[in-house]
Amino acid sequence: MPKITAVFCDVGGVLLTNGLDHGERAALVEKFSLDSKDFEGRHQMLSAAMDDAAWDLDEYLDRTIFYRPQSFRKQEAREFIYSLSQPLPGSLAVIARVAAAGTVFMATLNNESRELKPAPHRNVLASANIFPSSSVRAIWGISKPHAEIYRLALDLSQRQPQECVFIDDRSLNLEGARRLGLHTIQFLNAAQMESDLKTLGLEF
Ligand SMILES: [Mg+2]
Repeated sequence: MPKITAVFCDVGGVLLTNGLDHGERAALVEKFSLDSKDFEGRHQMLSAAMDDAAWDLDEYLDRTIFYRPQSFRKQEAREFIYSLSQPLPGSLAVIARVAAAGTVFMATLNNESRELKPAPHRNVLASANIFPSSSVRAIWGISKPHAEIYRLALDLSQRQPQECVFIDDRSLNLEGARRLGLHTIQFLNAAQMESDLKTLGLEF
């Protein structure tokens, strides 16, 4: 088996809890007594129509919630959304050890907008120096599971697919990478991710 020289990793559901996935949106609806059908409809239409790497949270909130008067302030909604995103310390520790071993190129492959991740949590990744090359998505504006994002990751890292492993919690995202020939790991928990990385020959 060719030596693994690059690790690409999802963020939401692997290193941090998910940003504004359906569970978090349901919490937002409940917290502020939103009209769930209206909010969810606007969210889905925005998701389909916009490249969410280009969103900022202000615009997102303006278009999903504050397009009409509300009894709460935008800042309250912003703080609540940020509070929903929490680090997953177990998997961060594993990935930090892989980074510290210094044997592979590492980058995130994530769909979330930069703005939808609170700065303190982005700093968790940056300060551990885990992903110096940052997010393919945020820079290039294409999303999983589109095959182009995996091709771009290969091009940018100048790697062959068989030298790369991609970690994600969703099987649909992994399928596109696997079709291109990357190794894949479906994230279930930190111990399983560590064991699967070692099975692929990584030493850390
Ligand atoms: Mg995910």
